[in-house]
Amino acid sequence: MIISIVVLFIIGTLCYNNFIKEKTTSPEANTVIKKVATKPKKEVKKAETVKWIKQTEPVKIPILMYHSISTGNSLRVPPAEFKQQMAFLKESGYYTLTPAEMYKAFETNSLPSKKVVLLTFDDGYTDNYTEALPILAANKQQGTIFMITDTTGKKNHLTLAQMQDMIKDNITIESHTVTHQELNSLKKELQLKELSDSKLFIKQRLKHDSILVSYPVGRYNEDTLAATKEVGYKMAVTTEPGLASKADGYFKLKRVRVVPGLSQESYQHLIENGL
Ligand SMILES: [Zn+2]
Repeated sequence: MIISIVVLFIIGTLCYNNFIKEKTTSPEANTVIKKVATKPKKEVKKAETVKWIKQTEPVKIPILMYHSISTGNSLRVPPAEFKQQMAFLKESGYYTLTPAEMYKAFETNSLPSKKVVLLTFDDGYTDNYTEALPILAANKQQGTIFMITDTTGKKNHLTLAQMQDMIKDNITIESHTVTHQELNSLKKELQLKELSDSKLFIKQRLKHDSILVSYPVGRYNEDTLAATKEVGYKMAVTTEPGLASKADGYFKLKRVRVVPGLSQESYQHLIENGL
């Protein structure tokens, strides 16, 4: 009797183990798991597939400062030169950041590429659309325009339609205030107005939440730094020369001025060293 019970128990245990084994290793069960696992992959957005690499040293970014892409004075870079510079950046493996990506780079101390640069254009000249945009679009490079919102559609300045067109080609429109007055010469209330009204214009007309401002003529004071933060910008650029670094403060980021007539060596040196 006891032997029969023991034998039955052993048979029962063996059958149960086999049942469990079959259940967990059946090909059907695997397929189900695979299907569930592969589904979300297809839904991953392109931006998320760029691998950001943590940096060991604090991130420093060359923010290149352009104005008009034409000839005539020391602020204007001729189209042929600009084309060569963009080709150089592309061939050298530079990734052109958006302002949001730059903020992420500073916040996380990581980069989406070994070499990065932020291309900026102050004042919103028409030639940014006619000359710079075709070059940037052909190279799949991203740029940032600092618009003086009150000059929209005025002589030599971008129209609303041109800006909307540029956004489709990965150009970001950010603020260069409403009227381009030197902020340090204004009372804080007026500074707040210049900063908030231009932000509102960009939000309402271009459906973009502006996070970056370029102080007109690079002028600012303590009120400017406070006002910029109060209005809701995340960062601001000056015209002080050098590579941009979080250590300088988000509202005092340095830039690299591009003057006409630079050799490729000087251009490269400028980007690598900021001076
Ligand atoms: Zn300006």
